[in-house]
Amino acid sequence: MKEIILCKYGELVLKGANKSSFESRLTKELRRRAWHYGAFEVHHAQSTIYIEPLNDEADLDGMYESARDVFGIVGVTRAAVAEKNIDDICRVARDYLPEKLAGARTFRVDAKRSDKAFPLNSPEIAARVGGAVLSAAHTLKVDLHHPDAMVRVEVRENAAYLHAGQEKGAGGLPLGCAGRGMLLLSGGIDSPVAGYMMAKRGLELEAVHFESYPYTSERAREKVFTLAEELCRFTSKIDVHVMSLTHVQEELSRKCAEEYFTLLLRHFMMKLAERCARERNAGALITGESLGQVASQTMEAMAVTGAAVTIPLFRPCIGMDKDEIVTVARRIGTFETSILPYEDCCTVFTPRHPKTRPVLAQVLKELEKVDAEALLEEAWQSRYTVTRKLYDDYR
Ligand code: ATP
Ligand code: MG
Repeated sequence: MKEIILCKYGELVLKGANKSSFESRLTKELRRRAWHYGAFEVHHAQSTIYIEPLNDEADLDGMYESARDVFGIVGVTRAAVAEKNIDDICRVARDYLPEKLAGARTFRVDAKRSDKAFPLNSPEIAARVGGAVLSAAHTLKVDLHHPDAMVRVEVRENAAYLHAGQEKGAGGLPLGCAGRGMLLLSGGIDSPVAGYMMAKRGLELEAVHFESYPYTSERAREKVFTLAEELCRFTSKIDVHVMSLTHVQEELSRKCAEEYFTLLLRHFMMKLAERCARERNAGALITGESLGQVASQTMEAMAVTGAAVTIPLFRPCIGMDKDEIVTVARRIGTFETSILPYEDCCTVFTPRHPKTRPVLAQVLKELEKVDAEALLEEAWQSRYTVTRKLYDDYR
């Protein structure tokens, strides 16, 4: 029996020209992923994307799991394909559905007929399929009001599809339909979550990471690349632009008041991230800041950090508690990597008593004690880019 994957996308947000660009982004992304799992045909019709294996070698299980991580898809299901006649539909129902309904005591069948020329109407199809299931699985009963499981039959243009149990998709909007964002990616728990949240709203991601070798180690850098790779489960590909802040930090610690170290460091980070964003055509910066989490994340401190740039700054974790951020980090699979105990450049040269209510004018005055322009240029010149992908053969 032939089995395929059906992906449903939400229609609510889809109007006019949006709809076709939305569909083509989704189809393209699923095709790129399918490439890794073998020979598949991917096309869309009637708010559904069909992923059909073209031979027995195609890995349907792997493709199914991958499709669940594609933003813009609200539901994913495996379905059996039947010919467009009621006898074949019932044959497939008998062969395919009992196993899918294992564990359920009651079920209900919903039929949908987009081909109005089909000789039976929807209630008739549902009744026939219900009968076929009952004849093949004797312990099951029909319950129209509170069924344990729903069986769906969709009679469409080329074939009929039968399935039980649609799973939730990743939701959100297809990658790239909202533009591109530059994520400030540290090795912590929050920034990967922030990247995930904005990617879910349709931003394609690139990342900047700041290191401070030899104060930060090779392992700390590898950890960040691993986090980027883990995010690729959703974003497929991430370029990580790495820059060195070693000299910046040494100069700050030599010449500026200790209580301003972190704020000044963050000023440099923001400036460099903005430059990187503009060069890479990204329209916003993304950070993992959360109000009040640390001294540099008070409202006043964030006003100072934000003042370093004119590009929009997205802080999707701003209103989340740490345990809420951790819950997301666990769900998306970045948590275990994030808690590996390697130092970040923010944790070297940390002030004992950081300013929690800084005044911008004072911070800028402190900044004058170093040659900011030269330091920025030097850090900028140190950059190199590492690309991480979902699969080696993702293209
Ligand atoms: P996280 O858990 O994301 O590491 P944090 O609690 O360590 O955050 P901070 O160190 O104040 O908080 O950093 C706040 C935000 O600044 C981070 O979420 C991240 O977006 C950015 N950031 C911090 N350090 C770096 C770095 N080394 N490279 C790039 N971005 C950074
Ligand atoms: Mg944090």
